[in-house]
Amino acid sequence: MKSPWFKEEHEIFRKTVRSFMEKELAPHWEEWEAAKDFPNWVFKRMGEMGFLGITYPEDVGGSACDYFYKVVFCEELPRSQCGGLNMAVMVQADMASPPIDILGTKEQREEYMVPIIKGEKICALGITEPNAGSDVAAMKTTAKKEGDHYVINGSKTFITNGSRADVITLAAKTDPDLGYNGISLFLLDTDLPGFSVSRKIDKMGMHPSDTAELSFEDVRVPKDKLLGEENKGFIEVMINFQGERLVAAVGAMAGAALVLEKTIKYVQEREVFGKPLSKFQVTRHKIVDMMCEIEAARQYVYYCAWLFDQDRNPAQEVSIAKIISTEMALRVMHECIQLHGGYGYTAEYGIERAYRDARLATIGGGATEVMKEVVGRTMGL
Ligand SMILES: Cc1cc2nc3c(=O)[nH]c(=O)nc-3n(C[C@H](O)[C@H](O)[C@H](O)COP(=O)(O)OP(=O)(O)OC[C@H]3O[C@@H](n4cnc5c(N)ncnc54)[C@H](O)[C@@H]3O)c2cc1C
Repeated sequence: MKSPWFKEEHEIFRKTVRSFMEKELAPHWEEWEAAKDFPNWVFKRMGEMGFLGITYPEDVGGSACDYFYKVVFCEELPRSQCGGLNMAVMVQADMASPPIDILGTKEQREEYMVPIIKGEKICALGITEPNAGSDVAAMKTTAKKEGDHYVINGSKTFITNGSRADVITLAAKTDPDLGYNGISLFLLDTDLPGFSVSRKIDKMGMHPSDTAELSFEDVRVPKDKLLGEENKGFIEVMINFQGERLVAAVGAMAGAALVLEKTIKYVQEREVFGKPLSKFQVTRHKIVDMMCEIEAARQYVYYCAWLFDQDRNPAQEVSIAKIISTEMALRVMHECIQLHGGYGYTAEYGIERAYRDARLATIGGGATEVMKEVVGRTMGL
């Protein structure tokens, strides 16, 4: 039966992405996990493959495809076996660059979007601060206008791609007295004097992705690097969250599906008490329960992708998708470790790594509790 969402062209694209992930990236996952890093050629190669500009317009080098191509890409990403790399790529293509494409002037889009889509410039999104995560409006970093420049002072933390980025889509307060109405976005080139990486942050999972704390001391950013309108940054950050949360939801669902696929194979091969684990009814039911959860999340995420393709801001649905998909992924990974027994707990089968990587998704880009607040507000609660 035909899918309401995917055409034959999407499936051809899926084969290309899967083959790339399995042949060009997956062979390196152990090396990159151990190094807690991956080389920048990955961005360039993804750019050559057209993976960084799937939905972006053609005038900046994108392919202007419908959003279901993006869904296909995010569904196949986990086959790289390298969650940290996947997150870095999503930040490049779906988190840090959309505001540049949408709000940027012709010159800004040409200067930044073209090399970002080619993978020649690496970008990061600088929102979170040591004392302002979920509460974005509490940020303290300031951008004070002085002649033809804005002078930036402050710090950001947990910034993915932070220590390798060429440019940061940075949020800072242009008018600290106006609260969330005083936030603006900037394009901050990381070779400017006064910018530094204070430290790289070690973490539970997503090891190959670089997570950095950044410092800004009197960084003079030319006025023409203001992105969009002054003091309108908060609303743009909130709208930008929808794309970020949607790819997180697709990625979590796809990650869970891949771990279940591996687990099904394992329980069919592993024998206990004289027969394969899959021949125990309790195992079958666990597998079917997980399948049900994954498929329900998958269909809801597809529905959100359809909405997002037409309107950038389906906040209620995307928040629901992020809750359903990321929380489900944790339950699935937990159960899949159990079904692998001691082997699931070891590093050898990659299941514990998938669990550690997936753990971030209910926190980053809007914790589950914050998502519930968004949904509650849309319900008038
Ligand atoms: C590996 C990693 C990569 C990241 N990458 C980036 C990046 O590239 N750019 C960027 O800007 N940020 C990034 N972040 C930051 C991430 O988005 C924040 O960690 C997240 O928004 C939560 O903020 P916080 O950590 O300050 O937690 P807090 O805001 O301190 O919240 C702590 C906990 O409190 C609870 N909570 C929060 N608000 C509410 C509420 N209203 N009601 C009830 N409970 C609540 C939640 O359980 C939450 O997890 C990254 C974080 C990590 C760990």
